[in-house]
Amino acid sequence: MPEPANRSLRPRVLSGMRPTGKLHLGNYMGALANWVKLQDQYECYFFIADWHALTTDYADTSQIVPNTLEVLLDYLAAGLDPERSVLFLQSRVPQHAELSLLLGMSTPLGWLERVPSYKEMQENLTSKDLTTYGFLGYPVLMAADILLYQPDFVPVGQDQQAHVELTREIARRFNQFYKLGEREVLPEPKVLLTPSPKLPGTDGRKMSKSYGNTILLSDPEPEVRKKLKTMVTDPARIRRTDKGDPDKCPVGDLHKVFSTPETMGKVYDGCRSAGIGCIECKGWAADGLVNVLQPIQERRASVTEAQAIEILNEGSRRAGARAEETMVEVREAMQMTLTTVAGA
Ligand code: SF4
Repeated sequence: MPEPANRSLRPRVLSGMRPTGKLHLGNYMGALANWVKLQDQYECYFFIADWHALTTDYADTSQIVPNTLEVLLDYLAAGLDPERSVLFLQSRVPQHAELSLLLGMSTPLGWLERVPSYKEMQENLTSKDLTTYGFLGYPVLMAADILLYQPDFVPVGQDQQAHVELTREIARRFNQFYKLGEREVLPEPKVLLTPSPKLPGTDGRKMSKSYGNTILLSDPEPEVRKKLKTMVTDPARIRRTDKGDPDKCPVGDLHKVFSTPETMGKVYDGCRSAGIGCIECKGWAADGLVNVLQPIQERRASVTEAQAIEILNEGSRRAGARAEETMVEVREAMQMTLTTVAGA
């Protein structure tokens, strides 16, 4: 298949997040830290999916802009570099809406109804009416977000593979109907499985904003230490003299991600022999977290909101230009151009 014009020599990746507010360590370890590394090898597009926020928050949109700004600052703080990545805002690139509409024409309803998160979220988010056209159609918008940039890979964790698979199916169906000569306009992207280590929140469940158990990338050191102090531990270790097992303890899971092998050794020995107390052990875990968070917070402090917005504006302009390249081909393949009709 011939390469489209202006194709960089590096394979392209694209990923994004909904603007949920300040990002936490789970977001960092599950996605952002991987994205930062990808910048060395790939042509990267990373975006903030503000239209996706509307699929669940349409009734109260007051937090979407402030949350977008927080996510943007955290993107930059984590090390996404506008010199190496295109950082953009979904709603600034209207081609996302256009391609979503066009893909929606050929996407069977049954494909959307069987998306597991469709029923799950309707059942779990009972405070919101999610029986909307927008919510049912969000996988089509997601497919448009991806296919617009013709990426080679979409970096995701294991739990999101199904979304990329649906995007591939939507692209395949489009390509069956519409072609440019022999060429497929919307190549099917592949999944780039990125490591997402088990990261418990302070209550031992998966770290998630909806559980209120997060440690934020922007939490100052005293706040991190305070949160760690209340973190649940191995339930078998009730008294200081009880022996425990770091493999059954959420704090142990944090150590596995953030602590040095030397500290890990002390944790395993001390916990299993009751030679250390949980307070001491949590202090070591906090040291590891603070080490990771410190450079992130320094970067965040070095960028003003005005600079961040300027970066997003410039990235959105670049993304729009790239998106339009795809849309020119999409419109042509679908014969939705007046020049095609006129034979010009
Ligand atoms: S010593 Fe550490 S690993 Fe062991 S139960 Fe306490 S907090 Fe968990």
